[in-house]
Amino acid sequence: MPATSGGRADTEGRQGNHLVTSRAALAVWAVLFCVVTSSGSAARGRGPVVRREAPFPAVFDSAPARHAASVQYEVLRGDFHMHALHSDGSVSPADRVLEAWEYGYDVIAITDHAGLGAYEEAVPMARALDVLLLRGIETGLSEQEHLIAVGFSADYEPRNPHQWSETEGQSEVFYRKQWQRLTGAGGFVFYAHPHVGLREPMLWGIDQGLLEGIEVYNGVVGSEWNTVESHGTYWYPFAFDWAVEYNLTIFANSDAHEARADTGQAVTLVLATDRSREAVLEALHAGRTIACFNNMLCGHEWALQLLMTSLIDVRLVAVDGGRAFLRLENHGPVELTAEIAGTPLEPVILGPYQKALASLRRMPDIATINWKNVYTRPTQNLTTTHTLSDVTP
Ligand SMILES: [Zn+2]
Ligand SMILES: [Zn+2]
Repeated sequence: MPATSGGRADTEGRQGNHLVTSRAALAVWAVLFCVVTSSGSAARGRGPVVRREAPFPAVFDSAPARHAASVQYEVLRGDFHMHALHSDGSVSPADRVLEAWEYGYDVIAITDHAGLGAYEEAVPMARALDVLLLRGIETGLSEQEHLIAVGFSADYEPRNPHQWSETEGQSEVFYRKQWQRLTGAGGFVFYAHPHVGLREPMLWGIDQGLLEGIEVYNGVVGSEWNTVESHGTYWYPFAFDWAVEYNLTIFANSDAHEARADTGQAVTLVLATDRSREAVLEALHAGRTIACFNNMLCGHEWALQLLMTSLIDVRLVAVDGGRAFLRLENHGPVELTAEIAGTPLEPVILGPYQKALASLRRMPDIATINWKNVYTRPTQNLTTTHTLSDVTP
């Protein structure tokens, strides 16, 4: 079962945070992206299914590495690890899609432990609801690492999933051979709930370019599977460090087995050039993801800088007579906590789609903001700088 409780309370208790907003004020936020609060689920309820829409603005990359022109990305909500009836899940493949639609996801993969039947069964619902669906499987080494593969072709046939051998003697299921078959079929492979650490098979996978991603958060493992309790939840902060050090794509997935819980949704944000499976896979290979869970955003610094360029707006507002404010605006659905460097101001909590004004004693040319719930490492926050030449009325 998901181990996270309400992210809002967790945020208030987070280390180094000095939040000024009262609980009463917190309560008025109508939309919380990572933590949804209304009751009922499509898979188990009888009422109308209402999609919990909470859009992100499009992201503009004005200086992409390999393109002459600027690029625009859609921010898609993904969950690339969940189970249905073909393994140990209790929800049908079609209901997994309906549920994902309800909870605001744009792209999912159903990753049963052995069978691949969920994909074909879920396709009609995915088409009808415009949810992108990737073929998926959970497999891996016998009694050791679990690996998720998504996006492989229809002709991939798993052999002894979860029973891959570390020794070549059993050549039929030698992990290197099986892994190469899987990626050869177009599979994007990441390390699920990385509970046994970076052993030789994973280091080999990284070296060969076969292991491209890792879960930093898994919604079902709770305090087990070698998670660490920090930042108010159980997760894999050490895997976040590995992702940075080995340039792996960062995931937060539900690993849902039962019907989705109403709180603590794990989301992998994907910055994709368009809303297609091909664009999602291109983004996964390029590492353009951000893990969203427990009211935290965790990602590679370059990806977070890209996201924040569109997500937040920081301006100087000068009033005739000498007063000045720093005006902060959050264009997205995730609560953000901004610590304004070089000022005695308390951190500003920007709820979803909120604006805030912070009084300034002088008019700076540049604002430097430390985002207290946006992480580039488990103990390192994202910092953004903003030129304040535009004085806005
Ligand atoms: Zn697993
Ligand atoms: Zn799983």
